Amino acid sequence: MGTTSSPTTVEDALKALSNGARVINGGTDVMVPVNEGRDWVDSWLNLRNVESLRVIEQSHDGIRIGAGVTFAKIETSLVHLAPALARAASTVGSRQIRNVATIGGNVATASPAGDSILPLLTYDAEVELVSLRGTRSVPLTQFLVGPKRTSREPDELLSAITIRDFQGAQHFAKVGTRNAMVISICSICARLDRERGIARVAAGSVAPTPLLIHSAEEALLRQNAAAEFSRLVVEASSPISDHRASAEYRRHALGVLAERVHRLLWQETQ
Ligand SMILES: Cc1cc2nc3c(=O)[nH]c(=O)nc-3n(C[C@H](O)[C@H](O)[C@H](O)COP(=O)(O)OP(=O)(O)OC[C@H]3O[C@@H](n4cnc5c(N)ncnc54)[C@H](O)[C@@H]3O)c2cc1C
Repeated sequence: MGTTSSPTTVEDALKALSNGARVINGGTDVMVPVNEGRDWVDSWLNLRNVESLRVIEQSHDGIRIGAGVTFAKIETSLVHLAPALARAASTVGSRQIRNVATIGGNVATASPAGDSILPLLTYDAEVELVSLRGTRSVPLTQFLVGPKRTSREPDELLSAITIRDFQGAQHFAKVGTRNAMVISICSICARLDRERGIARVAAGSVAPTPLLIHSAEEALLRQNAAAEFSRLVVEASSPISDHRASAEYRRHALGVLAERVHRLLWQETQ
């Protein structure tokens, strides 16, 4: 299994990272290939004891969610402030998975199916990265560069995700082969802030990365445009066929979800 370092501060974690250790938090992604014998890790950097990464802070500037915050905490703590994120968190895996799986692990894995990534995209989230060289923030859209690929440098830790614009009605929905413990076949999150004229929509498992679909925003801002909105969302997608579903089924399911969230958001904001 190799050696494990379990620092209690970010500074000590960064020192261990500079020695080439592999980061582990909940372990629910990184341990899968290791357990199956497809991956071997000589040196682990366990972040679970770094308390400063496990806090949610709210200020006049927004909400800063530490990378080590679990989905169990998000689904209860953010249910009123960021309901789509809380909802997405509540659909991850099972209770046992949510008790250890972290938002930082989900974002760092950068799976096209990463559930928390969709609401974060609709909130225009920023990813905070820290290294011994300093701290930088990048928009989540620029952090995700390909399937399971990010713009994180090897000496950087993901320290937090910051959201500032999370107001308005919002919905997250996903389709899977059953209700729990499956990676989604397709997923959607949409946010409508009618007062400020802001609309966002993001889709998952239908492109190499979770997708923020600007071309459908204007149709989300119009009440009787659910069908048009659905068409635009599907047009922006580029799903593949795999063992979970065909590309055709993914497009169909995404269209159904899109039309449904459009109607729901408008019903709620009447
Ligand atoms: C049974 C099962 C069901 C699942 N269901 C879902 C689901 O429904 N939806 C979903 O989206 N995901 C699901 N997952 C995937 C997984 O649970 C999530 O992606 C989870 O958020 C990963 O978090 P973690 O803390 O366990 O990450 P880890 O496995 O510890 O790490 C994941 C990756 O991120 C890196 N990493 C972690 N933290 C940091 C950091 N702070 N800085 C830099 N790099 C970091 C690690 O090196 C690794 O590459 C499931 C997994 C399992 C095993």
